[in-house]
Amino acid sequence: MQKLRRLSQYLSALMANSYWLFPWRTAIYQGVLKHVCFPGLNCYSCPAAITSCPLGALQNFLATLRVSLSSGQFHFGSYVLGTIGLAGTAVGRMPCGWICPFGLIQELLFSLSPLRYSPWRPLRWGPYVFLGLFVIVLPLTVVDSMGYGSTWFCKYVCPAGTLEAGLPLILMRPGLRRALGWLFVHKLIVLLVILGASVVISRPFCRMICPLGALYGILNHFSWFQLTFDADRCVGCKACRTVCPTEVSFFDGRDNINSAACVRCLKCVSICPTRAVGMDFGLMTTVKRPEQGKGTG
Ligand code: SF4
Ligand code: SF4
Repeated sequence: MQKLRRLSQYLSALMANSYWLFPWRTAIYQGVLKHVCFPGLNCYSCPAAITSCPLGALQNFLATLRVSLSSGQFHFGSYVLGTIGLAGTAVGRMPCGWICPFGLIQELLFSLSPLRYSPWRPLRWGPYVFLGLFVIVLPLTVVDSMGYGSTWFCKYVCPAGTLEAGLPLILMRPGLRRALGWLFVHKLIVLLVILGASVVISRPFCRMICPLGALYGILNHFSWFQLTFDADRCVGCKACRTVCPTEVSFFDGRDNINSAACVRCLKCVSICPTRAVGMDFGLMTTVKRPEQGKGTG
């Protein structure tokens, strides 16, 4: 299962960034696929990106909402909310664990070091703060004289944007280097801190910052796909918590099995020796029976 997941992560990253003509073109891809949101965090302005980022598109929608309303051109941002809503309703936060390119980058970095640190548990609320403040409130309320807001999260925080768009564009277009200022330095520091933290903390960006993960995480509780936990079969070996990239601790009742922190990587399903963890696809539950001779405690 985990080999399949890693394959899915690589293929998704390649598919979302498959505009390989970019070294010969001056502009980023602006074709029809840019109207489609990729379900994971993948910067719109990456020279190789063929789709939009749902988080950037959501901020853009909110930042231009006043002007749209006043000009009578109101639209519901349906393709943004549709992408997040459809994916989230079906599988909750599974895009984070299976297709998000920035999730993959953090996982690869974490595999480089034997050192392991756990972030302070209340920092789990960080993604909701970034979602509320940088994605919703500031783009909606801080507007210029024309009524346009700004994409605050993209502009001041998003490390995926710096890595996938900022740095490649600066390398490709020497003219841009002269225009670099404090904002780029700030974004570069944010990126380096997050990449550095990813070496010793599992998925720090997903766990403490990512507003897209927060949106999907809320839907973990309501999605069609659910994880199941049979406490009667659990022997308390803690293997599920040890392999969990976001340290969800459901075996001891500390967290819900469908916690918003879970990126649905399914490592716990694979590793549980007593098959206490299962999957429920709505119509079909796949809680496997323990093999003969293996007690359930
Ligand atoms: S891996 Fe399975 S048996 Fe071990 S603590 Fe987790 S749920 Fe219980
Ligand atoms: S609880 Fe299980 S599926 Fe969720 S992130 Fe942890 S290991 Fe992955």
